[in-house]
Amino acid sequence: MVESRIALIRAPNPSPLTLTGTNSYIIDCGNGEAICIDPGPPIESHVEALLAHCERIRCTIIWIALTHGHPDHAPAAALLRERTSAHIAAHEKSGVTHDRSLRDGDTVGAGDVALQAVAAPGHSADHVVFYEPRERALFTGDTVLGEGYVLITPPDGDMRAYMQTLSRLSREFAETRTIFGGHGEPVREPAVKLEEYLEHRRARERQIIDALSGGSKTVSDLVASIYAQTDRALWPAAAQQVLAYLDALEREGRIRSDRAQAPPVYTLS
Ligand SMILES: [Zn+2]
Repeated sequence: MVESRIALIRAPNPSPLTLTGTNSYIIDCGNGEAICIDPGPPIESHVEALLAHCERIRCTIIWIALTHGHPDHAPAAALLRERTSAHIAAHEKSGVTHDRSLRDGDTVGAGDVALQAVAAPGHSADHVVFYEPRERALFTGDTVLGEGYVLITPPDGDMRAYMQTLSRLSREFAETRTIFGGHGEPVREPAVKLEEYLEHRRARERQIIDALSGGSKTVSDLVASIYAQTDRALWPAAAQQVLAYLDALEREGRIRSDRAQAPPVYTLS
């Protein structure tokens, strides 16, 4: 239990990308009903752990709310739905089978809990975060994690949309007391975390522009220059991040690409 009525139940799927595993959350709605956020990967023992928790708190899950459709967050929704007859709520663009399509500003509620859905594109196009005003809790999925940074993989991932999402969260949800991310531990200083996340992105973007003006021309040049101190095993992921920045800068006319060349060559406008 991390808050009086919010439980974090971690799935047994640790990996470099999922950290210690995917965080599933069960919110006790105070009337014998519960909402599950991100039931996680399709691991039977994890679904059992979610159900066992509900039995302990004498609640039935009536809503399964998905932050996004990635395979470490969403597939257990179908298993849990079979066991509980709960309804699945997900972003209107979600490719995951769901009963209710969420738009920005919609609420998913039961008892005295009303989760506000906030469209949060960036990590994926179908990402939403949920704000629970009573506990001032922000459930951020893979938009903000308890540790490390988020992977933005184009074309579904969009770096500029992601930075705009972070800015919006820091502006509109400044009263948040705790961020409950999709991986890692709860974040007790949300404003500091959001500013750190934004500054990390701005700094990386400046590094890319500096490297381009210093003679780097391709994604591999940029990765070799910017991630020189990083384990080479992580360079393929780094290349995806660099590409996400380049896509954003090119859309804004700040750089140009020549894709007739292999690999494509990038220059400042
Ligand atoms: Zn994800």
